[in-house]
Amino acid sequence: MTDPCLFCAIAAGQIPSQSVYSDDHVYAFHDINPAAPTHILVIPRKHLSSVCDAGPDDEALMGKLLLAGQQIARDQGLAADGFRLVINTGDNGGQTVHHIHLHVLGGRQLTWPPG
Ligand code: AMP
Ligand code: ZN
Repeated sequence: MTDPCLFCAIAAGQIPSQSVYSDDHVYAFHDINPAAPTHILVIPRKHLSSVCDAGPDDEALMGKLLLAGQQIARDQGLAADGFRLVINTGDNGGQTVHHIHLHVLGGRQLTWPPG
């Protein structure tokens, strides 16, 4: 049996989160340890451990994830000044939770390159 997944449990409402968007396919909530004034995570309800776990059947779902990030950025008032969408992947990418999540970051000038 595999370990319970934190973000599957959050999407199912078994672990509390501060929701900002929800539909049949994706769920979005505030990051518990924000790295910017606005820091939201958007996840597919389907468990995919990382971008590398997505296949051709997930093409539409990956599109929904990105478009949800766009809409949330607009709703949060980030679109005019700009924002960043990030998907950390694997160890070198800094991924710590192994369920795909799109970070929506904004509300300050973000630097590049990332650390
Ligand atoms: P990553 O490092 O890209 O895997 O991002 C994981 C993110 O999940 C981090 O920014 C954490 O602060 C965030 N996180 C971990 N646990 C929770 C939680 N229970 N609720 C909200 N965000 C969380
Ligand atoms: Zn999961």
